[in-house]
Amino acid sequence: MGRRAETRTLRHRLLMFISWPLLVVLGISMVADYRSAIGIAAEAYDNGLSSTAIALVSRLERDDDDLDIEVDVPPAADQILRSDTEDRVQYVVFDDHGKVVAGDAELLALPRPEVVNRAVLQDAQLGGQTLRTASFRYESAALAATVIVAETTVKRTRAAHRILMAIVWPNLLLIAAALLLVYFGVRFALRPLDALGERIGRRGPGDFSPLAEADAPGETGPLVRAINRLMGNLDTAGRAQQVFLSNAAHQLRTPLAGLQTQLELAVDALPPEARPRIERLRDSTRRLAHFTHQMLALARSSSEGALISDHRPVELAGLLEAAASDLLDEALAKRIDLGFETAPATVDGSRWMLREMIANLVENAITYTPAGGRVTAVCGCDESGAPFVEVDDDGPGIPPAERERIFERFYRVGGSGGDGTGLGLAIVKEVADRHRAEVFVDSGADGRGTRFRVVFPAPEPAPA
Ligand code: ADP
Repeated sequence: MGRRAETRTLRHRLLMFISWPLLVVLGISMVADYRSAIGIAAEAYDNGLSSTAIALVSRLERDDDDLDIEVDVPPAADQILRSDTEDRVQYVVFDDHGKVVAGDAELLALPRPEVVNRAVLQDAQLGGQTLRTASFRYESAALAATVIVAETTVKRTRAAHRILMAIVWPNLLLIAAALLLVYFGVRFALRPLDALGERIGRRGPGDFSPLAEADAPGETGPLVRAINRLMGNLDTAGRAQQVFLSNAAHQLRTPLAGLQTQLELAVDALPPEARPRIERLRDSTRRLAHFTHQMLALARSSSEGALISDHRPVELAGLLEAAASDLLDEALAKRIDLGFETAPATVDGSRWMLREMIANLVENAITYTPAGGRVTAVCGCDESGAPFVEVDDDGPGIPPAERERIFERFYRVGGSGGDGTGLGLAIVKEVADRHRAEVFVDSGADGRGTRFRVVFPAPEPAPA
């Protein structure tokens, strides 16, 4: 999987498309260099060998007395001819009858030249050894003879080896340097793409603002424009959804509240025997209103509906106080000691979402804490300057195994009392996500009860 993903990256493709052809080209050039260098060296050695053969031919003569062919090679010249520090040099001169005029008879086994009056160079085998030979078939009106000069190939092999080393190492270094340059070049050249990816990755889920085309490499222009069009469409759709949801919330809230009030009044006006039925109707209506409200709040705060552009600085203390006054009656009814400790803390966010979040946390604490208990809501900024909200109670607590799942939609811990919907903490989580905040669940003070802590990102320092 990792490898497949890797082969699909532009960087990998570029590296492959550049490195392999480069390697092939450099490989071919190395072989070509080697061959031409070997060719030049071999030519020099071959010239020496042909010169010797020609020198021997120039010394051929016919004996005037017995008309035999002779070759005038004084012992000193013979020694010079055969003197070579590395190779063994031999020669033979013979006439048309195969009679050896001078030199080593064993060379007669070597192939003879097929052309006349021209030196012929070739490789040959003799006694299991490779030899390089220069042969010359001389024919004139006066005489005809053949000269073969042969030498072993020790210095040629050594020269080939030296040339190979002299060519291979610099070329290998060149290849390594070229590959490194390509690698870093490609990395460097693709950096703007990484930066573009990072910029997109850093965005919050509801951030549909267009990407700046000027900051992206020219080749990505069509891509950036397509992304921007998509973002624009999502933004428009999100806004339409927001408008619809907030209208729906408003339109549903009013008649449901009216229905509830009418039912409250009806309970008081009815004779006692008819009251229980209407009371049940009133309670069901209350639950329906609560559920409708929670559903719409969740939908409005979900990533598709929430728009980051609606964010403004919101003072958390004010929201905490509003939640306190809204839920005071419920707390009083259960004789719960509802306390607030507020310190200034401002979050850049959506006011209604943060209000929903705090209301859900405080309401849960009041709901699940037994009568006579304690609920404390705190807001402020921690040591790093990060704003936070904390709601602490001394109720039954939440088992650690359940602390992940309670944020799922419609999830309720088994045996939980009350007529909850299982949506309250899902809303808290959505709102936290929209604000890039983290929610922590723990035991309350003294290890009893529950503590929810929502920590928002610390504000970025203002540019100097
Ligand atoms: P509900 O509508 O059931 O309250 P929530 O999503 O708000 O839905 O909460 C999910 C579950 O988490 C609840 O059913 C309850 O069991 C548990 N819970 C939430 N807050 C508290 C709390 N303060 N103390 C104990 N249990 C809690």
